[in-house]
Parts: sequence; C-alpha cells; structure tokens
Amino acid sequence: MSVTDPDCLFCKIVAGDIPADIVSETEHTVAFRDVNPQAPTHVLVIPRRHEPNIGSLAAADPEATITLLAEARSIAEAEGNGSYRLVFNTGADAHQTVFHCHGHVLAGRSMAWPPG
Ligand code: 5GP
Ligand code: ZN
Repeated sequence: MSVTDPDCLFCKIVAGDIPADIVSETEHTVAFRDVNPQAPTHVLVIPRRHEPNIGSLAAADPEATITLLAEARSIAEAEGNGSYRLVFNTGADAHQTVFHCHGHVLAGRSMAWPPG
C-alpha cells in the first residue's frame, strides 16, 4: 500500500518531483545523500510510504522497516569501514525536522558519545 503526503518534502523526493543524489532504491525504500552532510558518508534511508517516524513505520509496515534496516547496513558496508551510526531522530526535541521517517547512515569518521 502506498501512502503519501502531498506537502511532504521526502514524499516529493520519492516521487521524483525534487531531485536527490540517489544511492539505492528498493520496492519499499529510497536512499539518498543528505544535502548537509555531517560525515563523509551521510545517507538518508526512507520508506516510500509516508510515516512520520520509525515507530509508526514498524507498526504499520514491518516488511518496509526490515528493508530499511537492511539497506542502511548495505550502504554502511559499501562505504564505511564497518563502523557506522544509524540515527532516527524522533520528535522535535530530538531534532527531527522532516516528519517523514528517515534513518541517517553516518560513517567514515570517528564519532563522540553522547550525541549533542
Ligand atoms: P532530521 O533533522 O529530521 O533528523 O533530518 C533531516 C535531514 O534532512 C537533515 O540532515 C537535512 O540536512 C536533510 N534534508 C533536508 N532537506 C533536504 C533536501 O531537500 N534534500 C536532501 N538530500 N536532504 C535534505
Ligand atoms: Zn512523506
């Protein structure tokens, strides 16, 4: 089932209405490079269907969720050295700014903990 929001930036990227540097595509997901990269590899993996966050995606579509996680791993393995960070900012206080589920795949540099 396809669910889209006509006002959503990432739905427009899925539809091809806004250009993006696409890294991979599956039946369920699209992965593209973040316009403001925070690491040598900074790829966003998103479901084609519009869900606001990873929790709602998991509840609505487990298969798409598993595909998203597998894609994140594939990208990290292809571009990184085996170490990567997969981030799902969820909610405004966690610095979610685009309310279409997206996993940030960050790799290619050392990282600190805790995140800011
Ligand atoms: P959030 O803060 O919601 O977790 O992450 C949203 C991400 O989307 C940010 O890292 C931001 O740089 C990225 N972003 C926002 N608009 C665009 C866009 O039009 N194209 C691409 N490729 N990335 C975007
Ligand atoms: Zn959307």
